[in-house]
Amino acid sequence: MNTYVDDGYIKYTSKRCDGSVVWSEDLEALNRSRTNLFDLGLIGVYANGVGFGNLSVRTDEHQFVITGSATGASRVLQREQFSLVESFSVERNTVRSRGPLHASSESMTHGAIYQGNPAVGCVIHVHNRLLFDRLLRQGYPATPADVPYGTPAMAYAVQRLVRAQHGLPVVFAMAGHDEGIIAYGADVQSVHAQLHGLFQGTQDS
Ligand SMILES: [Zn+2]
Repeated sequence: MNTYVDDGYIKYTSKRCDGSVVWSEDLEALNRSRTNLFDLGLIGVYANGVGFGNLSVRTDEHQFVITGSATGASRVLQREQFSLVESFSVERNTVRSRGPLHASSESMTHGAIYQGNPAVGCVIHVHNRLLFDRLLRQGYPATPADVPYGTPAMAYAVQRLVRAQHGLPVVFAMAGHDEGIIAYGADVQSVHAQLHGLFQGTQDS
């Protein structure tokens, strides 16, 4: 049992049991996407030691595999650095996972997206100043500025946003989570391509 406390906010309660994820082509693709985003600086570790960025793929109707907590420093993840989120509840603010590491502290947000749209197969969360500012400036969807990340309020805000969107993939800014961006869609390839394209756009101008 572990209660995440970060930036003074109490996050969800997590229960973890040992075990490992079943490796798949989806996870292979997710890991490749992650390494590419790491090389672009969209995933990594801030100077204060806090890691950022996390990715997941849906494995069935109610479960998904997500990068483990505190893995931001690794360029290429090993199987042991992924966790299966077996169940979660936004209402009770709990996450139950299987794997050697705790599931990412943003697991609840990922879960809210999968729950909000059954067609979603992949969720990617990155941090980037230029892209974050541009998304907000250009009127991309965004969660409210007064909703901090990792809280039930964020999970509900994300779910409302997801239910209001038509079509996939979608990219949105977490206005209350500085530099926080989420992309989600049907599969790893389409989500990665969308995010990568938008990031390239900030580099060309
Ligand atoms: Zn974040």
